[in-house]
Amino acid sequence: MTSSLLTPNSSLTLSIEFFPPQTPEGVDKLRATRAKLAELKPEFFSVTYGAGGSTRERTFAIVREIAGEGLVAAPHLSCIGSTKESIRAILDEYRRENIRRIVALRGDLPSGMADPGEFRYANELVEFIRRETGDHFTIEVAAYPEWHPQARSPADDLANFVKKAQAGANSAITQYFYNADAYFHFVDAVRARGVDIPIVPGIMPIAGFSKLARFSDACGAEIPRWMRKKFEGFGDDVESIRAFGLDVVAGLCEKLIEGGAPGLHFYCMNQAALTTEICRRLKLA
Ligand code: FAD
Repeated sequence: MTSSLLTPNSSLTLSIEFFPPQTPEGVDKLRATRAKLAELKPEFFSVTYGAGGSTRERTFAIVREIAGEGLVAAPHLSCIGSTKESIRAILDEYRRENIRRIVALRGDLPSGMADPGEFRYANELVEFIRRETGDHFTIEVAAYPEWHPQARSPADDLANFVKKAQAGANSAITQYFYNADAYFHFVDAVRARGVDIPIVPGIMPIAGFSKLARFSDACGAEIPRWMRKKFEGFGDDVESIRAFGLDVVAGLCEKLIEGGAPGLHFYCMNQAALTTEICRRLKLA
C-alpha cells in the first residue's frame, strides 16, 4: 500500500483542519494533538467556524494559540446569516493578529435562524474580503468533486465554483471523497474553464463507520458500495475498521499524489494518530 512516492523536496503541501473544542479539557487535548501533527510540518492548520458565528470566540482563541506557537493558522469564516459589519469586524481582528490566510465559506443557516443576512454565497464573501483587505489574505474556498448537495446541477455547481476563483480565491480545498476519479474529473472540468488555482483534496481518515456514513449522507460525500459493505461486515470490530480504513485512505492519497494533486488537507477531527500513520505510509512523515 505504500511506496517511495515522495522525495523530501517534493512541493506537495500538507494542511490540517481542527474544530474548536467546547471544553478546557478539549483545548488541552488539542494542544497535544497539535504538537504531534506539527512534526509533519504542515503549511497551515485551519480552524472551523460554527454556522451563524456560533464558535466565533472559540475559533479565534484557537487561531491565536496556533499563531502564538509560531505556526500558520487559517481561520474558517462563513458568511450566511452575517452582516457586512460583523464580517468586517472579524477581518479586522484577524488582521490585527497578523493572520494572513483564511478559508472563506458560505456555511449553512442554522435551523431556527431565519435571516440569511447580507451575503448569499461564498463568492460574495470572497469579493468582500478582497475589496476590504486587498491582498492581505490568501483566500481558500471549498470545492465539491461529488457536487454540493444543494447544487441545481453539476454544470451549475462548477460555474459557481468558477465565480469564487474569479472573485479572488487563491486556492481551494475539497469536500472529502473516497473516489479519486471524482477529484480528477472535477479538476479537469475546472481547468477546462480556464481556472488554474490549486485544488487540494480534503482527506477524511476513517476512525469508525456508522458516524462517517451518517455524516457523508448529509454532506453529499459518497462512500462506495464496496467500502460500505466491507465496513458493515466488520460490525463492532474496531481494529478491523481502523486497519481497513487506513489501507483505503492511504491508497486514495497515493493515487491522488500520483495523479498530480498539489497537496493534502486532512480533516483530522482533532486526533493525531490516523493522519500521522497515513503520512508515515506515504513517506511524508
Ligand atoms: P457556496 O460556494 O456559496 O455554494 C453553496 C451552494 O450554492 C452550492 O450548491 C452552489 O452551487 C450554490 N451557489 C454558489 N454560488 C452561487 C451563486 N452565485 N448563485 C447561485 N448559486 C450559487 N461549514 C461551516 O459551517 N464551518 C466551517 O468551518 C466549514 N468548513 C468547511 C471547509 C471545507 C474545506 C469544506 C469543503 C466545507 C466546509 N464547510 C464548513 C461546509 C460548507 O459551509 C457547506 O458545504 C455549505 O453548504 C456551502 O458552503 P460553500 O462555501 O461551499 O458555499
